[in-house]
Amino acid sequence: MQPPSNPSPYGYGEAPHQAPYSGQPYAGQPYAGQQPGPYGPPPHQAQYGAPPAQPMPYGAQQIPVHGPQCRFCGCVPAVETTFRGHRGMILVMSFLHTKGPFCRDCGLAVFRDMTAKTLIGGWWGYISFIATPITVLINLTRRGKVASLAPPMPPPDGTPHRRPADPGPPLMSRPIAVIGALIPVLLIALIILINLAA
Ligand SMILES: [Zn+2]
Repeated sequence: MQPPSNPSPYGYGEAPHQAPYSGQPYAGQPYAGQQPGPYGPPPHQAQYGAPPAQPMPYGAQQIPVHGPQCRFCGCVPAVETTFRGHRGMILVMSFLHTKGPFCRDCGLAVFRDMTAKTLIGGWWGYISFIATPITVLINLTRRGKVASLAPPMPPPDGTPHRRPADPGPPLMSRPIAVIGALIPVLLIALIILINLAA
């Protein structure tokens, strides 16, 4: 018996009743590294393109969605965490936070942005002088949760997503973070000098 020929350029198993052409690109943004196949549009939608929100029923997909999607871009994998920021002023100060889930790239972007701004703008007040290093340490301990994720991919169930954020330069390649990290050192040196001179 002749083995069934497979005309598909993708080579993944197709139902015999499927339309002769099936090379329909994934609806939405094409994305580097994306696997065609188990979450492509069903055959009856091949002529029209899948509507953006057409989740397949659970159990029908070969790559199940484990865990959350990034709150900014919708990609997976994502992890639940919260990055914090602190802005100090003599009279008014603000405690900021941005809650996940984050994919790797959006999480690193939020971590770097909030931590750099905290380093330059956090120190300016008595309580703030204590709150700022604590905020930075909290962010540093949570950074690994997002940094260790796999590169972001579109969700397998086809829910709409955007391109992940650009994480930008590393924290200590940012001038405001470097200058900000030196502020407490300079302030303490200044206080010691003033006391010695008194
Ligand atoms: Zn993201």
